[in-house]
Amino acid sequence: MSREHKISQDGKVVHLDPRGATSPQPTGPVTDGELGTTLCRELLAARSVGQSAQLLVFRISNFELLVDTFGQDFGSTAEAALLAQLRGLLRRREPVQRIQPGEFGIVGRGIRSEPALKAMTDRMIEGGTGHYEIDGVPCRLKLEIGAAACPADSDEPEELLHFARFALRELGDGPDSCRSFSRDDLARRKAMFRMEAEMEKALEERRFVLQYQPQFSVSSGAVTGMEALVRLQRSDGSRIAPNEFIPLAEDNGFIIRLGYWIIGEACQQLARWRRAGLAVPRISLNVSPRQLQDPDLVTVTEAAVADAGLLMSDLEFEITERCMLEESQRVNDTLASLRHAGVRLAIDDFGTGYSSFAYLAWQPLDMVKLDRSFLARVGTDHRTDAVVQGMVAMAQELGLGLVAEGVENEQQAEFLRRIGCDVAQGFALAHPQDPEAITQLLIAAACA
Ligand code: C2E
Ligand code: MG
Ligand code: MG
Repeated sequence: MSREHKISQDGKVVHLDPRGATSPQPTGPVTDGELGTTLCRELLAARSVGQSAQLLVFRISNFELLVDTFGQDFGSTAEAALLAQLRGLLRRREPVQRIQPGEFGIVGRGIRSEPALKAMTDRMIEGGTGHYEIDGVPCRLKLEIGAAACPADSDEPEELLHFARFALRELGDGPDSCRSFSRDDLARRKAMFRMEAEMEKALEERRFVLQYQPQFSVSSGAVTGMEALVRLQRSDGSRIAPNEFIPLAEDNGFIIRLGYWIIGEACQQLARWRRAGLAVPRISLNVSPRQLQDPDLVTVTEAAVADAGLLMSDLEFEITERCMLEESQRVNDTLASLRHAGVRLAIDDFGTGYSSFAYLAWQPLDMVKLDRSFLARVGTDHRTDAVVQGMVAMAQELGLGLVAEGVENEQQAEFLRRIGCDVAQGFALAHPQDPEAITQLLIAAACA
């Protein structure tokens, strides 16, 4: 079978012989081996004259899958096709090093700025990504690049290779084709691993704690509910705020187990207050999208509620608009089952992100929590005043409750009274506090 090299510049239809991998020197010379001499030499040469450089490691996305599917020869031809495609695109004839099958390295010397790096990587990605025909197989090759800067990230070639490959790995299955990885990224990654371990340990050692922040009726001042907010207590007693670990717990799925503990603990606390004769109409829990994907969420909640001698209607789940954006059948089913079982549903932080008024017409909804960014501008910007007033009127019209979040001063509280807002929550009324402090607050409220 004859394998001619045919490269059409426009459509990138390429027929190449695997031997083409080394014969037509597409960019600079191509050498084989890990970091090898070529990249090292280039990096050290740049370093010796104080020149900035970028180590770019590029690869054919899904290369292993392509080779597993179509065979080794296909892989070699694809590599050659890609390199041929890149020919002429690079500013100089930078030498390319083949690091491993499907993966190459190149040093961009003299690249100092972000725009210069972007110009080079965009050129490579646009040139390399596209439709090819390899050994008669039409396919789409996608070029991906990981970058590390010398000397900004490191001046050690081995470490730069490590960073650039880390960047490639971070691209994962995402839509991006290029990213950098720096020393700071490495520090963040290490902190993430430590936090993952710390969360596991904290759950075992019962070092997660719940604080509670009351919500008050604007008209009567009575406590209408209590939002449970989780904190991680370090061994030394200091506490880590949820924003520092919840996103990670959502990413790695830990939130499901943590959520079970939170639901159980909050139910027990509500039962303790009720046994002490203190009036807490309900407890609100923050629930992430990941938890709503959990098929066991409803039964676990039912068990926790039954165990504490409560009703499902004693609970309110605060979900964010992200949950509704998921549009997954399972999320919808879970929300419908929760609602059917009696749990009240609230939209948290309404007005941030991809706010859509359509969500307000969503049947199972009971409550809207207006994001605190609105209250922060109230009284200083008449348009925001009008938006908040409109929101309150709309919620009333829709038969929804409305909680204004982030009430930080008397002026904001007065504004809420004036426009007839339902419920308020914020530092000016009560900070999130440990259950014992909340007990005192409830006793004082009962005696008033
Ligand atoms: P969120 O649900 O919107 O909770 C309200 C946050 O605003 C809390 O921060 C609270 O301390 C803070 N806050 C309350 N009043 C005021 C105020 O007047 N001014 C200002 N500036 N802030 C106020 P926190 O406790 O740090 O929680 C942050 C976020 O972490 C929560 O936002 C929620 O999204 C998440 N989170 C907290 N606990 C849990 C949990 O148990 N599960 C899940 N999935 N997420 C949680
Ligand atoms: Mg909340
Ligand atoms: Mg909120």
